[in-house]
Amino acid sequence: MIEIVSTTACIKCDVCVKVCPTDVFDRGPDGVPVIARQSDCQTCFMCEAYCPTDALYVSPVAVPVGADSPHATESAVAEAGLLGGYREMVGWGRGRSPGSRLDQNPVLTSIPPLAEPRLSTPAVLADGPWQHQGHA
Ligand code: SF4
Ligand code: SF4
Repeated sequence: MIEIVSTTACIKCDVCVKVCPTDVFDRGPDGVPVIARQSDCQTCFMCEAYCPTDALYVSPVAVPVGADSPHATESAVAEAGLLGGYREMVGWGRGRSPGSRLDQNPVLTSIPPLAEPRLSTPAVLADGPWQHQGHA
């Protein structure tokens, strides 16, 4: 759930206000968005992914964490490198590698499960008609 808008990092671009599918933000009087309807947040991370300055933090917890939680404390989140951490993880932003380039899923799905030499064949599959030739 959205927990933090960094007033110092925000450049008042309104992108988060526009991309939020559930209209959680209002534009504040100074242009910095305010979390106006936190309970409407669906923890989709869209705002954090799109924020160009890593000014947002969406906690992975799907309920409000409470004001005394480190997840709601900007200094703690920043110190942990988590402001904009989701955006960094997906590789969006200058100088980052897009997540699609790091995606290992095509590699994993190209390996037939029973031909993976590092895995022993589960007994429940070993006798099945789908057993690969040459694998015990
Ligand atoms: S996480 Fe999704 S639903 Fe929540 S404020 Fe951000 S964009 Fe809106
Ligand atoms: S997307 Fe980021 S920089 Fe733009 S208004 Fe929202 S918090 Fe500020």
